[in-house]
Amino acid sequence: MSISLSNEKLAAAAVLAELLVPGRRVCLTTHVNPDGDGLGSEVGLAHLLKARGVDVLIANPTVTPARFEFLMRSLPKVDRSAEAVKTLRGADVIVVLDISDLSRLGMLSQTVAERGVPVACIDHHVSPGTLPPGPHYVDPSAAATGELVSEIALANRWPLTAEVARALYVAIMTDTGGFRFSNTRPRTLRIAAELLETGLDPESIYLDVYANAPAGRPRLLAEALQTLVVEEDVGLAWVTVPPGAVERHKVTVDDLDGIVEFPRSIAGVRLAMLFREMSQGRVKVSLRSVGDVDVAAFAKPFGGGGHVHASGVALPGSLPEVQATILAAARDYLRGVPRG
Ligand code: 5GP
Ligand code: MN
Repeated sequence: MSISLSNEKLAAAAVLAELLVPGRRVCLTTHVNPDGDGLGSEVGLAHLLKARGVDVLIANPTVTPARFEFLMRSLPKVDRSAEAVKTLRGADVIVVLDISDLSRLGMLSQTVAERGVPVACIDHHVSPGTLPPGPHYVDPSAAATGELVSEIALANRWPLTAEVARALYVAIMTDTGGFRFSNTRPRTLRIAAELLETGLDPESIYLDVYANAPAGRPRLLAEALQTLVVEEDVGLAWVTVPPGAVERHKVTVDDLDGIVEFPRSIAGVRLAMLFREMSQGRVKVSLRSVGDVDVAAFAKPFGGGGHVHASGVALPGSLPEVQATILAAARDYLRGVPRG
């Protein structure tokens, strides 16, 4: 094994291995609008457990985006939102991946809160956590939850099969923006290398995730980028998804992933945002930052969260209302952070 694990991590991995055993029905879940890390971590762990004879199911609060369906295909018993509550009700153990906050489990929050079974958590978010009790394997310094699932496998000497490695590689690749973001540590690359050693073809994984888009994705991107506003004095830039554009281009919100990197790519920009209308009169704001600007701290008073350089918040109100509130707060916040 090319990475070292602290005694604390080895102990936490052993606790999980004792909990996730044959005879127990294990249900894995992740946050609403699951991303490559949430899904890849689930699928990786599901294959690891299946290989050990564990009865394991995935039950998520929202559907799998088309671009990640290739990962789920080899898992015959994947539950989708409609049956998810039922699946959770039959579980002896719940494992929540890539989130520590109950509220981000959407329609499954209440069931997870009320079940009274152990709720294990494997996550890398900066959050105190609001899940029911259970063993935790949480490390905010990890680039992706997929890193942590890899560590758990390595610690327990669970074999990394090609299926496991592919899912965990997708998790790490997507949460590091293809190994480019500041969360990419030497350890991240060592773990990714460990996964590639199984014989994975990184190009085919890249093509599956990033080069398999509907034509509406670049068309929507073009429209969203037309809305770009840059405020050079404070180092702020944002784009807005035109209301109705997702439906008009016959895409899903997953197809918006990565758009916020464009305002972030501008010289001098320290805080980049993407605004989009959600259903039920709410607006989602994706936040990205560079350097000393901490978007997890910025999002917190608004009930959002995430990581230092990548966070999100969902606020009630119309698009112009939320935009006015968040932009005013962002200007204030940025004025308080000296330029490095
Ligand atoms: P994204 O902007 O790509 O949706 O999310 C970026 C990061 O922020 C992710 O780590 C995600 O978990 C977190 N995040 C996004 N939206 C929310 C939200 O509404 N609440 C919280 N607590 N975190 C969010
Ligand atoms: Mn993640």
